Amino acid sequence: MRAVDLIRQKRDGAPLSSAAIRAFIEGATGGSWPDYQVAAMLMAIVIRGMTLDEAAALTDAMVASGQTLDLSAFGPTVVDKHSTGGVGDKISLIAAPMAAAAGAIVPMMSGRGLGHTGGTLDKLEAIPGFRTRLSLDEARRTLGRTGCVLIGQTDEMAPADRRLYALRDVTGTVESVPLIAASILSKKIAAGIRALVLDVKVGRGAFMKTLDDARTLANWLVAIAARHDVRAEAVLTSMDAPLGRAIGNANEVVEAIETLKGAGPDDVTTLSVEIAARMLLLGGLARDAADAVGQARRALSGGAALEKFRDVIAAQGGDPGVIDDPGCLPQPTVRLEWIAPRTGFVAAMDAEGVGLAALALGAGRDRVDAAVDPAAGIDVLQPVGARVRAGEPVLRLLSTDPNRFPGAISTLDRAIDIADGAPARLPLIQDVVPAAAAAVHG
Ligand code: URA
Repeated sequence: MRAVDLIRQKRDGAPLSSAAIRAFIEGATGGSWPDYQVAAMLMAIVIRGMTLDEAAALTDAMVASGQTLDLSAFGPTVVDKHSTGGVGDKISLIAAPMAAAAGAIVPMMSGRGLGHTGGTLDKLEAIPGFRTRLSLDEARRTLGRTGCVLIGQTDEMAPADRRLYALRDVTGTVESVPLIAASILSKKIAAGIRALVLDVKVGRGAFMKTLDDARTLANWLVAIAARHDVRAEAVLTSMDAPLGRAIGNANEVVEAIETLKGAGPDDVTTLSVEIAARMLLLGGLARDAADAVGQARRALSGGAALEKFRDVIAAQGGDPGVIDDPGCLPQPTVRLEWIAPRTGFVAAMDAEGVGLAALALGAGRDRVDAAVDPAAGIDVLQPVGARVRAGEPVLRLLSTDPNRFPGAISTLDRAIDIADGAPARLPLIQDVVPAAAAAVHG
């Protein structure tokens, strides 16, 4: 099958057969499809969409592009979580060690920054020495020792997602239910999980801007996971404003560690407990929801989750000294404050705008081969709802490149609204799609 014919077929709105989808993924993984043809196909999928059957076939082909970790010896407690992409979303760094500290086996395969959102791998790699690219054997051995491993796609595991993910990041081809579903599930299935808690973000800073679109993504994720014997449930959570007070990489690691020490922002702590508890319940490690929440809270308050994170960092070659001394992390050389132009309340902090500003400071990529500045990012000094005086700093911008500030500041000027009245608060959790109840049309 010629690449150009398959691209034209999807461009013109015809569904692709499973064989055509396999040819696309084999071509993308093996390198016989160059970047421009892979990107053209991705754009055709974004614009034309896919049926649920096509998305399931895409997931199957992406899983088959590499090997799968066989973790059957660990039983049903092999469980993971994944977010569909947020700004300031460091929950994986907290919930994974929390769940592992309570007895779950967590083979977490994550991604890098995608579009305006941050990525768990980029955050972890801000820790000096931390290796996210482990071989199958290394991943299995680490998991046996610590009960938790935090890895990325490799040439062995989920190689198709590795290539597609990197291209989607820089070609405007992220916002697509089938591409997001296949990307997430292919790497999770390759990592050998039995259960999965999905944090489907919804709002201005999410790829799914409306609750309807987020529900569709959640339903597709749960349904496709079930076809692979993975029990998945989805929690739909607000992503209008950044999560927590840190957006970037090294600064998000600091905030994750503070949360593991019991001193994190309320929204980060609340969501971490919620997700870790759901992991324990879905993994069969808790009697009921109350027991699961109790176990998750104890893992945090007793320090077991923090010690688990320390062990995971050490096991993956990182410097565990970051737990006690955040000064070991890369530091920005330039800091600048975004100042309130008037007195009032921080009425809105558009998460997409803040994410784009962090990207402009160097926290993400605009080309496949661009390097990330691990010290770059934004610290929120006054969150949404805070009362501020004219001239008071609202955000602190961090980078190692002074030329990056003007672009970031003008993006923030559009993203932040200081108004007379305090904004209404949206609930953090907006809906739940349980494991068995995914109603899917498509
Ligand atoms: N997370 C992923 O792994 N892939 C996506 O496409 C979006 C979020």
